Amino acid sequence: MTQAHILVAISDQQITFLLERVLKSAGYSIRLQENPASIQRTVELNPPTLIILGETVGSASGMEIAAALLRRFPAIPVLLFISQESPALLKQALQLGVSDTFCLPLRTDDILKAVQASLDKAQQRKDWVLLESRRATAGLQRQISEMQTLAELARTINSSLDLDIVLQAVVEAAVKLTNADEGSLLLVDDVTGELYMRASRNFQDEFARTFRIPIQDTLAGSVVRSGQPVLMDENTPQKIKTSYLVQSLVYVPLRVHQSVIGVLGIDNRAKKIPFKDHDVQLLSALAEFASIAIVNASRFSDTSAERNKLGTILAKIQDGVIVFDQDQRLVLVNQMAAGAFKLDDASLAGQPLQDVFTHPDLLALVDSGSKTMTNRAEIAVEDGRIFSAQITPIAGVGAAVTMHDITNLKKLDRIKSDFVSTVSHDLRSPLTAILGYVELIERAGPVNELQRDFVHRVQTSVHNITHLVDDLVELGRIESGFDSRKEPVHLEQLIPLVVDQLKKQMDDKHQTLLLEVPEVLPPVFANPVQLRQMVENLLENASKYTHPGGIVTVHATLEDQQIILRFIDNGIGIPQVDLPFIFDKFYRASNANNEMSGTGLGLSIVRSIVEAHQGRIWVESQPDEGSTFTVVLPVIQE
Ligand code: ADP
Repeated sequence: MTQAHILVAISDQQITFLLERVLKSAGYSIRLQENPASIQRTVELNPPTLIILGETVGSASGMEIAAALLRRFPAIPVLLFISQESPALLKQALQLGVSDTFCLPLRTDDILKAVQASLDKAQQRKDWVLLESRRATAGLQRQISEMQTLAELARTINSSLDLDIVLQAVVEAAVKLTNADEGSLLLVDDVTGELYMRASRNFQDEFARTFRIPIQDTLAGSVVRSGQPVLMDENTPQKIKTSYLVQSLVYVPLRVHQSVIGVLGIDNRAKKIPFKDHDVQLLSALAEFASIAIVNASRFSDTSAERNKLGTILAKIQDGVIVFDQDQRLVLVNQMAAGAFKLDDASLAGQPLQDVFTHPDLLALVDSGSKTMTNRAEIAVEDGRIFSAQITPIAGVGAAVTMHDITNLKKLDRIKSDFVSTVSHDLRSPLTAILGYVELIERAGPVNELQRDFVHRVQTSVHNITHLVDDLVELGRIESGFDSRKEPVHLEQLIPLVVDQLKKQMDDKHQTLLLEVPEVLPPVFANPVQLRQMVENLLENASKYTHPGGIVTVHATLEDQQIILRFIDNGIGIPQVDLPFIFDKFYRASNANNEMSGTGLGLSIVRSIVEAHQGRIWVESQPDEGSTFTVVLPVIQE
């Protein structure tokens, strides 16, 4: 026992001295206090085990000080020394709650007895309070420990996708919380319709592994059938069919979407302590946990099966697929794409796209794809294959690039172009011969009107064919990159030359041509013949597809190191359905009638020229309102 500290506050010096001597020699530690005003504070700062007060302390009344101290510190016993015993004083002291009084003559024995008795009583009171509070908080403590076990279980469920671990944790928590001998989690086997033990605590391994009971005629089965919990002990007037002997038991159903899929149970095999309703409630809460875990696990296995299926499809398809997130980090690269860019098999997920891919065309596509909605590009890879790649934004993911191998199509296209250009080339000489001879007919002798008319028709037709052949030869030349000689070209000088050349044709149709070209423009690095052809084709079209009296405008500006050319007319326009194909070879819009002669090759030539100069071209048009062809060409960088 620790040493008792006694605070002594008595005015009478002699008594103080006496008490100090007696108590010290009995082993108590003593503190003397003379100033009545600071007693409270001293007690507060360093609480003594016992206080002895005189009838007077300094100038104050000991009784009043005792009253104040007992109010503040009811657990510290106070002894009062009174010089003369009087029933009135004793009664007052008793009413205040003073533990004991003593008076003159002072005998060592009396003092020590009074002090010890007070200390003993105080200790008893303290022990009793402690015991009572423990008893009162025991329920609370149990609840806290239950909550802690449940919280721990919830953590296990959240952190583990392994159903075995979670169900084992549920059964263990059930046994721990209910203080049961054994616990088990039985599930209905969908195939046999029996109950088997999925998790257990304190059952022998072999027993748990081989345990199987039917749903009919068993207690656990009755819980599955009724969906109601059961609580049983030896007094329950029913034979407990558990296939093992127990004193008492609780079974609660495991529910998933309204149907019962199993049973969570606890039992006391040896202990003769029955279970209570509270145990049923606890077990039901745990059964909820188990059900949630079972649902989660089945969802997870469904999703992972789906994901595996999708993954296999993506990996095996013959098109390349690259998926990346908003921060341009890779999510997926399938086999085909990895093979095309010669990537290792190592997992690429999470790596920045720029670190994995170096192909400039792919990076340019990704770059443009993040700005516009969708975009396409042709990508030629190292092994000679050519892919048509398309980038598509995917909400919530990022974007996907899909790549389709068009090597064979490109080869066919080239064969076709080569064939066409060879044939056209070979057609030229016979056509020239035909024209020459037709012209000679008239010179060779007189021809009648009808013959002259026939000759003219032949001439016009041959002219048309020659025109077509010229266009084809020209297109073949540009596409094959032949004559790709380039030099600085000043568009502000080139455009007026073409305009002059077309002036007569436009004057004949009474059309107005507005030239909105700055006096000075930075040069573009280009093939002058081809650029001239491009402007010529676009201007010719603008005039050809515009009614007499219409207006054609050529507009040029410099923006961001690019020259933007616009050929604007207020002519017949192009129907919406034709717009996507207008640059294709031999394509003529549905509103271009036969009087407006043409081969459908002019715009194909224009597009090939623009692309050969790293430019872009597009058209905006409204039928009966007019068309605007826009060409963007990069200027020579300093
Ligand atoms: P064409 O020899 O038929 O003019 P192009 O390739 O130059 O061939 O043009 C293809 C088609 O585009 C034309 O047949 C015409 O239908 C349409 N087209 C071209 N330019 C214009 C324009 N400025 N206004 C209306 N339609 C146009």
